[in-house]
Amino acid sequence: MQKLIENLYDKYHKLSNGHLASYIPELAKVNPDYFAITIATTDGKIYTVGDSTTKFSLQSSSKPFTYGYALETYGRDFIRTKVGVEPTGKAFNSIVELEKKTHRPYNPMINSGAITITSLVPGKNEQERFSKILGLFNNLSGSTLNFDQQIYESESKTAHRNKSIAHLLRHFNIIDEKIDESLELYFKQCSIMATSVDLAWIGATIANSGVNPLTKTRAISDEYISDIVSLMFTCGMYDSSGEWAYSVGIPAKSGVSGCIVGVIPGVMGISVYSPLIDMKGHSVRGVQVIKDLSKELGLSIFETRNKL
Ligand code: GLN
Repeated sequence: MQKLIENLYDKYHKLSNGHLASYIPELAKVNPDYFAITIATTDGKIYTVGDSTTKFSLQSSSKPFTYGYALETYGRDFIRTKVGVEPTGKAFNSIVELEKKTHRPYNPMINSGAITITSLVPGKNEQERFSKILGLFNNLSGSTLNFDQQIYESESKTAHRNKSIAHLLRHFNIIDEKIDESLELYFKQCSIMATSVDLAWIGATIANSGVNPLTKTRAISDEYISDIVSLMFTCGMYDSSGEWAYSVGIPAKSGVSGCIVGVIPGVMGISVYSPLIDMKGHSVRGVQVIKDLSKELGLSIFETRNKL
């Protein structure tokens, strides 16, 4: 496994296609050469190569897990009234895409759905609500994580598009009147910093039914793991989810900072970090690496020749 990821690192570290996510100004300052690949297994093994100790903001790779937290807090029936489970075939920051009759966002992986989910995290103020989110990510990763003030502020100051999405959601009564507080909470969630190793453990915890393979702490109830993983699969790569299912076949979620987390249920979590992203917001090297890994190890859920 170690040799395999080292070979993939060598194969792709010169690939320099793509761009930095400049719509969040702070993300455009990141070193575009960073590159890390990590695999964490459900039986507690870790394989990593490259900039494994470099921290990056989780951005949208955080979305599936807060969704799990909301499911656990409110139950499936209530959450389903707020956010649907259908892919949109549209960009992650699409403004107009709400379901026709219900006005629910289509799914929790796009911004409208993720803002709705974060708006539901309970607590008497922003601080208390954020400490719940951070606690979740600490339990998932088995590390002590924190958010980056500069990345958070950089997004908050320039987030006209997400703000307009939130106001539309308020208009349709999908989120409550604490629009600003919930938005800030969402930006903080997106600016939680983690390493490739942390993110692979997060994936491995999901793969391990919600229990961190190292700390043995339960981060999320096993009842909601398939909700999380199925939505990563159908919606996690936004408007390239179909292409991803076809050519990779692994439930995954990307973030515009250049990270991708993949989950092989029962087996392992995969994480790749490389900040140059494509037009749909996915790490260019990350897509290639996970595609190759899937082929090499037969990891696609549709593959009958699994080699593990
Ligand atoms: N914080 C980012 C946003 O809301 C996350 C987007 C992403 O990673 N695709 O725009």
